[in-house]
Amino acid sequence: MEKTHSKTNDPAMLERLLFGISKRWIAGYAAKDAISAARKSNELGMSVILNYLGEENLENLLIRKSVSEYLTIMDLLDANNILGCISIKPSQVGLAINYDLCLRNIYEISEHATKAGRFVWIDMESLRYVEDTISIYLDIFKKNRRTGLVIQSYLRRSYSDLMHLMEHGANIRLVKGAYSQDRINAFQATREIDNNFSMLMRFMVDHFASDEILAIATHDSKLVKEAISLLKGREIIKSIQFQFLKGIRDELKRELVHNGFSVWEYTPYGERWLLYSARRIRERKRNIILLAKSLIQS
Ligand SMILES: Cc1cc2nc3c(=O)[nH]c(=O)nc-3n(C[C@H](O)[C@H](O)[C@H](O)COP(=O)(O)OP(=O)(O)OC[C@H]3O[C@@H](n4cnc5c(N)ncnc54)[C@H](O)[C@@H]3O)c2cc1C
Repeated sequence: MEKTHSKTNDPAMLERLLFGISKRWIAGYAAKDAISAARKSNELGMSVILNYLGEENLENLLIRKSVSEYLTIMDLLDANNILGCISIKPSQVGLAINYDLCLRNIYEISEHATKAGRFVWIDMESLRYVEDTISIYLDIFKKNRRTGLVIQSYLRRSYSDLMHLMEHGANIRLVKGAYSQDRINAFQATREIDNNFSMLMRFMVDHFASDEILAIATHDSKLVKEAISLLKGREIIKSIQFQFLKGIRDELKRELVHNGFSVWEYTPYGERWLLYSARRIRERKRNIILLAKSLIQS
């Protein structure tokens, strides 16, 4: 009997199908796609945070390419008058090989950002990179105050890391955490991760100086609401950013923009979109169903 040829047996077709779904969360393959997505965010009243996709780079060529891509994209932000900044992953620019290489590369990006007048966020990755990432950040921050670091509420150590960073006047983006870790190091239950987010957020709001940036980066309405009520009447409200990922909770973004808050859209782009998209799909049952339906219908 002749075998029926499903599109999902064809790797190129499968890739196109997955890319079609992923386009919700990423701008596209190239810098020009990132700039056009950035322009759209600006038109909707949001600033953009561009991330060139990639992590765990072990090849020097790939690491170099990632560094130059960040330099180029900052120039393009300027050339196109875009309100926005960049966010980089340490393991993308050398930390998967060694500390010094990563420090040198982030320093080079930071120097360029200073000239271009752009802010640089450093993403936080899995636990094995946390210690080094904090140390690299503090080194860079001594030379460039327009840099910020991520703190993840799923990690038990985050409270003490946050206190340490705040002693230095660091700019912080607070997230729940996109990685998984054993129970010794990380909270496992959603309720515990959310409670820790709430506790860290309260601590930051109470102790932040007005020249520091505090970014609340969650799509969780309950926590966004809590942040707004905590901030009411406080001077630091001006330096608060609400940050979201591209393609998620667009109605909440619109509402915050409408109410005068500073809203930033984290927009990844690049050829290495699959791992990032898999993370977004995994995060929500409804996305897994969406993916399954598309595969069945193909
Ligand atoms: C700007 C920004 C930067 C980030 N940087 C980092 C980083 O450096 N390191 C790191 O570990 N993590 C980072 N994250 C990811 C973060 O840790 C979470 O994995 C992710 O944001 C989902 O958690 P949540 O806070 O939105 O809450 P959740 O409890 O996961 O989600 C709350 C609600 O948001 C909606 N939602 C959430 N995810 C999805 C989705 N994929 N598709 C559709 N709806 C969804 C749903 O309505 C859900 O009920 C970042 C997140 C943002 C917004």
